[in-house]
Amino acid sequence: MKDLKLAAALPNGKRSVMDIGGVKVGEGLVVIAGPCSVESEEQVLRTAVAVKEAGAHMLRGGAFKPRTSPYAFQGLGLKGLKILEKARNETGLPIVTEVIDTRDVSWVGEYADVLQIGARNMQNFSLLREAGKSGRPILLKRGMYSTLEEWLNCAEYILAEGNSSVFLCERGIRSFETYTRNTLDLSMVPAVHAESHLPIFIDPSHGTGILDMIEPMSLAAVAAGADGLEIEVHIDPSTALSDKNQQLTPAAFAKLMDKIRRLRAFMDEMQATGGAGAL
Ligand code: PEP
Ligand code: MN
Repeated sequence: MKDLKLAAALPNGKRSVMDIGGVKVGEGLVVIAGPCSVESEEQVLRTAVAVKEAGAHMLRGGAFKPRTSPYAFQGLGLKGLKILEKARNETGLPIVTEVIDTRDVSWVGEYADVLQIGARNMQNFSLLREAGKSGRPILLKRGMYSTLEEWLNCAEYILAEGNSSVFLCERGIRSFETYTRNTLDLSMVPAVHAESHLPIFIDPSHGTGILDMIEPMSLAAVAAGADGLEIEVHIDPSTALSDKNQQLTPAAFAKLMDKIRRLRAFMDEMQATGGAGAL
């Protein structure tokens, strides 16, 4: 793709691996799980312990929420970040949390192991530049109206600031289909692997917005060779302050993790015996 200097696939085919608090993103399958929003200490701590027990590698949770309505819950801000910090101290799970404002990047980075830039901000170029300067690993979600080329150019903005720890997450795009919340574009897994050395994750929660689709889309992402998944899990989804219809219970997440592990083991075995493509 023209104009890509740092995000483009390498001639030797090597892919980036980044060590985030001992978790190797880009090597094996990494699962990020946790609530849509940080709502209370109890909610986050109980969810964190449960997702860790189920085998998640990192904890997610939004303290700053980009909401469609200005009257909807906007997140707990600093208080939420302190709760996430406590959850990391208690579980050892690295923290993934969204930053939505250039003015917040450096101090949010003191609490987060990974700064997430969400779909709505994918092309916020000043935020991308600040994220690059922060030196923190960045999870860059795909904008809901963005092409692969636009997305990779946004990763390029972060890389161009000297920050080489960037990984991507497909979370669905807007299409004429309204049955699902978004149209999850799983073809981005092989597409990113063809065009870039950066790891590519799939978010089946925002990608579908439908509880019963989280499992099939997660397994399909693993089968496609995704480097990881980002899945919303809430201790009591019916009481969630955001995205209550798409968050798994810890029990459902544990069952899904078991299937994910078994599928991944099958994929690894198939690759070892020469049956699979370049995973
Ligand atoms: C999120 O992951 O919390 C989120 C808001 O996702 P997206 O930016 O993909 O909508
Ligand atoms: Mn959400």
